[in-house]
Amino acid sequence: MKTIKLGGGRELTYELTRKPVRNINFRVKSDGVVYVSASRSVPVARIEELLAERADALLSAAERLRERDGKSEIGDTVRWLGTEYPIRVIASSRELAVLEGNECRVFTRHGDDREHTERLIRAAVSERFTALCRELDGEVRRGLSAAGLVPPPTRITIKDMSSRWGSCSYTRGHISINIRLAAYPRDTVLSVFWHEYAHYWHHDHSARFYAFLERFYPEYRRWNGLLK
Ligand SMILES: [Zn+2]
Repeated sequence: MKTIKLGGGRELTYELTRKPVRNINFRVKSDGVVYVSASRSVPVARIEELLAERADALLSAAERLRERDGKSEIGDTVRWLGTEYPIRVIASSRELAVLEGNECRVFTRHGDDREHTERLIRAAVSERFTALCRELDGEVRRGLSAAGLVPPPTRITIKDMSSRWGSCSYTRGHISINIRLAAYPRDTVLSVFWHEYAHYWHHDHSARFYAFLERFYPEYRRWNGLLK
């Protein structure tokens, strides 16, 4: 690895690999190191000249990668219904993640491919969450029916949303549920179902809306309060 000085007191670290490639390739990683591959015929001076020219773009790309890594919801554990499951990668010819025992077991041939393992984990969580939503939807509808109300035909969509936990389009008969709720306790997910169903009867967040919720789900405030 080698570091070159740029203007303004900045510097850039790179690692050069000689390969019989036609072009000079630059690849930056989140640690800020630029990996360069070039054939033997390209002089180091030329490579460093190109690096200096592209420094701004390369450094901001590294910055973006760092931000992305920081934002990844999946660390060493997976949070499912309020419980942390440590991730264990198991070498296997199956490509599958499961939440079992007290851990998240990822069976894969590509255990060192972080993005791949995360994809398997997300798929597992999404599948479990879809099944849970079906169950909670049934629970709420049965609760409404038992009280003599008629739950309207409703399509449930599970989505990744950044600013809301759920939404109800009462005119279209459609409720959206945020997949990020999978990290919270079951009762918190249930509280979002009650909230969205309550909008069929009360379109705003008035006192009557909350009275409706308290009547059907007395623990509404406690469990929904876990969401920020
Ligand atoms: Zn609402």
